[in-house]
Amino acid sequence: MYYTYPQDMRYQPTYPYGPPVYAPIPYPQYQTPYPYPTRTPQPTDELRGSWTPFTWVEKYAYAFSGPYNKAEVAITFDDGPDLGFTPQLLQKLKKYNVKATFFLLGQNIEKHPEMVKRIANEGHLLANHSYSHPNYAKLSLEEFKEQINKTNNLIKDLVGYSPRFVRPPYGSITEEQLSWATKKKLMIVQWSVDTLDWKGLSGDEIANKVMGGSFPGSVLLQHSASGVPLQGTVDSLDKFIPAMQKKGVRFVLLTKMFNMSKSP
Ligand SMILES: [Zn+2]
Repeated sequence: MYYTYPQDMRYQPTYPYGPPVYAPIPYPQYQTPYPYPTRTPQPTDELRGSWTPFTWVEKYAYAFSGPYNKAEVAITFDDGPDLGFTPQLLQKLKKYNVKATFFLLGQNIEKHPEMVKRIANEGHLLANHSYSHPNYAKLSLEEFKEQINKTNNLIKDLVGYSPRFVRPPYGSITEEQLSWATKKKLMIVQWSVDTLDWKGLSGDEIANKVMGGSFPGSVLLQHSASGVPLQGTVDSLDKFIPAMQKKGVRFVLLTKMFNMSKSP
């Protein structure tokens, strides 16, 4: 059965005694990585960020979600920019006066520099999603640094600041890479609600996932790239933004959620 807001907007029963419990969400395509977190990823797995050790969130600048005692949710879009969906997303965000975080790919920044400037000009936060979308766990530290630095330099040249927030493609990152990023004052942010929007889901299906899976501090994962069917992503904003705002949710940038400046 599909849960709809607000019945499933679960305020976590363990609060204030511990972090949120990630209850399995009854959607057919939602796979809980279990047992968690010691299971060894298999080559055939669809990659998910959430198998990294719990302890990393304390050792490094690393998070899956924000504080769970604030009515804040962060909307994030990966893999952009493009010229098809990104402008539509910007239009919807403007309609609701909501700001979002865009994790951009260096190779798409080079293709669409004007769109990068437009995203920044409209008050959204630019963040780093690598240059060419590799699996960081398969790269050397030097190759990893190059992906981060090249993309941050491209963004800095266009909008004047070098992003602090970084999201590894597929959520895949090694401890050595995380350690380096932390020393550079970067902040690695994964996600807590995976909409799987890139599979071509409808706006209703995506909105149901968002509203059923969100809790205070949630970081939503959606996409803004070309070559994938993302009309549902655009449509979903009309459904979940006003519905959640009506319930008191504030959509915030990662800078607000983590109380950090946009640059290291
Ligand atoms: Zn990506």
